[in-house]
Amino acid sequence: KKYIYSFDEGKKEMKSLLGGKGANLAEMSHIGLPVPPGFTITTEACLKYLEMGEELEDQIKEGIFDYIEELEEKQNKKFGDLEDPLLVSVRSGAVISMPGMMDTILNLGLNDKSVEGLAKKTSNPRFAYDSYRRLIQMFGNVVLGIPAYEFDNFLEDRKEKNGYDNDTELEVQDLKDIIEKFKNLIKKRKNIEFPQKPEEQLLMAVEAVFSSWNNSRARSYRNINDIPHDLGTAVNVQTMVFGNIGENSGTGVAFTRNPATGENKVFGEFLLNAQGEDVVAGIRTPKDISELKRLMPEVYEEFVELTETLEKHYKDMQDIEFTIQEGDLYVLQTRTGKRTADAAVNIAVDMEEEGLIDKETAILRVDPEDISQLLHPNFKKDELEKADMLAKGLAASPGAATGKVYFTSEDAVQAAEDGEDVILVRKETSPEDIEGMVKAEGILTSRGGMTSHAAVVARGMGKCCVAGVGDIRVDEDAKKFYVDDRVFSEGDYISLNGSLGEVYAGVIETTDAHLSDNFMMLMEWSDEYRQLGIYTNADTPKDAGVALDFGAEGIGLCRTEHMFFESGRIISVREMIVANTKKKRKKALDKLFPYQKDDFKEIFKVMEDKAVTIRLLDPPLHEFLPQNENDIKSLAKELSIPVESLKRTIEDLEEMNPMLGHRGCRLGISYPEIYKMQVKAIISAALEVNEEMGYDVQADIMIPLIGTEKELVILREQALEVAEELIDQASVDLSYTIGTMIEIPRAALLADDIAKHADFFSFGTNDLTQMTYGFSRDDAGKFINQYMDKEIFQKDPFATLDQKGVGKLVDMAVKLGRQTKKDLKIGICGEHGGEPSSIDFCHRVGLDYVSCSPYRVPIARLAAAQSAI
Ligand code: ADP
Ligand code: MG
Ligand code: MG
Repeated sequence: KKYIYSFDEGKKEMKSLLGGKGANLAEMSHIGLPVPPGFTITTEACLKYLEMGEELEDQIKEGIFDYIEELEEKQNKKFGDLEDPLLVSVRSGAVISMPGMMDTILNLGLNDKSVEGLAKKTSNPRFAYDSYRRLIQMFGNVVLGIPAYEFDNFLEDRKEKNGYDNDTELEVQDLKDIIEKFKNLIKKRKNIEFPQKPEEQLLMAVEAVFSSWNNSRARSYRNINDIPHDLGTAVNVQTMVFGNIGENSGTGVAFTRNPATGENKVFGEFLLNAQGEDVVAGIRTPKDISELKRLMPEVYEEFVELTETLEKHYKDMQDIEFTIQEGDLYVLQTRTGKRTADAAVNIAVDMEEEGLIDKETAILRVDPEDISQLLHPNFKKDELEKADMLAKGLAASPGAATGKVYFTSEDAVQAAEDGEDVILVRKETSPEDIEGMVKAEGILTSRGGMTSHAAVVARGMGKCCVAGVGDIRVDEDAKKFYVDDRVFSEGDYISLNGSLGEVYAGVIETTDAHLSDNFMMLMEWSDEYRQLGIYTNADTPKDAGVALDFGAEGIGLCRTEHMFFESGRIISVREMIVANTKKKRKKALDKLFPYQKDDFKEIFKVMEDKAVTIRLLDPPLHEFLPQNENDIKSLAKELSIPVESLKRTIEDLEEMNPMLGHRGCRLGISYPEIYKMQVKAIISAALEVNEEMGYDVQADIMIPLIGTEKELVILREQALEVAEELIDQASVDLSYTIGTMIEIPRAALLADDIAKHADFFSFGTNDLTQMTYGFSRDDAGKFINQYMDKEIFQKDPFATLDQKGVGKLVDMAVKLGRQTKKDLKIGICGEHGGEPSSIDFCHRVGLDYVSCSPYRVPIARLAAAQSAI
């Protein structure tokens, strides 16, 4: 079996074998980019190693040295040579990139003797000893597991003692002393000498990377991100190039386009006379890539060309790592760059316009869930001008966030679960902080650059982040941070502007999002491809207006009960409920009628000739009555009825299981006059708007909670009677329909019968889910998390449609319904109508439309297009 591939042998399609890093290093070598030669030990070798109880097979060991020989020939240097040694890096590279999880060892192959040789050969002893101290430091940390700070302490001590600001000021003697200290540390901690044989260093390093696949940090990262545990990691062994030779060398990271905005301009940072992770580690403040243009114009030119080649080849924005060795440029890594939603949209649309990708690809490039951040508010301008700015840092990830500060991931999680808006404040974040970052509204760090953990992860999550705010001092132990002489403690409010990198004291109000031209373009393209209609759930003219602006094509659910709660009306609603005779009830309904009619008129006016699906009264009447003694007394007084009799009415209405009780169409059967009033209000409103505005209103009357054919027969008949009489009397035409919700499993099972009396179906998947599972939506919160922990549920079925069970009912009802009526219009109006994977299901089973909350309309448009492609 082949366990090792040189960069010349691999290609980008071989990710599962070579890992992401190895596959792309091979690919870049093929297309002629300056990649230092090397080879990849496969993920299969890793699995084999783990299977054998963490031991390398002889065949693999021998293979490694065969490939080292090949490198020796290519470089014309010998591994372990005392005068001019071949040095390599050992780099882990999993299939799915796991930032910071497994680490890299540089300058491998040096020892006490060859470091002298290297010093002589290069006439640059500082470079040689700097490389050696780095090797011992990384080896001690990554391979031997000694905490990094124990090494850092020696460096810091020496810098402080000599009054140096930067590592670059360390002189040869300093470095030699530090190397001694490092070696002693290793001896003290591990009771071994730092290995002097390069072969031994190499095998130990490879084994350490393989073993690190199973360390607890890696495991928990995989758990959080749903990455399987049996993939293994590859190891790359690569010839070293050196960014730490002097001021005409350096190292950096860059994106081929701006990952925050999408602007088509190289974006990145670098450090001169530096190596490896110096840039991301925040040791010195990196320079902006534009500086490189000034310092080394030719290298910069070549660099820009390289980014163009990469984009043309990969057809996507790339995130790259590079090193400059004495004026020569090398590329050490490329991968698809993480980006904000704003950038994702801009890059997708720009690349289509540049002819790099087609429209379908552009549509597929943007994660529908991500664009929700574009639809979300920003700080109000005038509020912002008055705001109390505390400090400025890097605009690491755009957006606006206001909340209370917490200083540990655990505290942040706890506070968020208690319903607080949380700002997580840390010196810097690490993978252990992921959970707190997920729960926070925004993230603030005092250290680190644009490529720090906090910045990269926040951008990935679409979360507001201000990083590297040097002017604040964070004391995580005391749970406080300081700005000048001001102190902020746990629970104090601050606000973050991630688009400008600004930190403010207190709460700042926000405004609605602004939608860019590119965003609109992507939405238009989505509309060209999608087959599903996109409706909205809206109960008010305002919500309907917002949804229309976002591209909604109709209202799929207008709940009438919300209108009942408004002041001035609730009293008539209550009067109607407590009425003990039909006459009294009618009197109360007559008072409600004009309100309902006006509400419907306003909504019809906004929607013009688009469909408006109105659901007749659904909740149990009990919900409208007061519960506490005082309220009951004052209501009795207001309605001039005895308190005792009102109490009795309330008691009579009380139910053990209201969600399965006297609600929905059952109310329409018991109190026909309620539904009749509502139908009258809908039809009169529609007729009046047609007459006043000349519109062709589409009123769709929706009867909830049907479980039997007969219920629908009765209620439809009743509604038709009211409607036809009104239309007969009117001077204008009206198109209206009467349909039903499918939300009781029995209705889904008998959908062919139900369809005989329905002009349309709308799946109420909230109720359908709770009734199919047999647990109440209002109580499921108590155990759903445990169900997720125990993996009984992968996802909360109220958020993501249970395609297997509930979906089977949906699919069946669609087929049965259309058996009866070939062109039966069918949609969905549960929460699931705005969730991408559920939308994909709706597309596949052939629904006509999905209906979702206004802010999710664009998400649904994009998701529906992706389903159709
Ligand atoms: P990570 O996955 O954490 O980014 P890498 O394997 O990419 O780890 O290594 C980190 C950094 O080490 C690289 O960005 C590069 O600067 C440096 N590096 C790795 N291999 C080499 C090499 N062969 N020559 C010079 N620098 C290297
Ligand atoms: Mg790393
Ligand atoms: Mg890297």
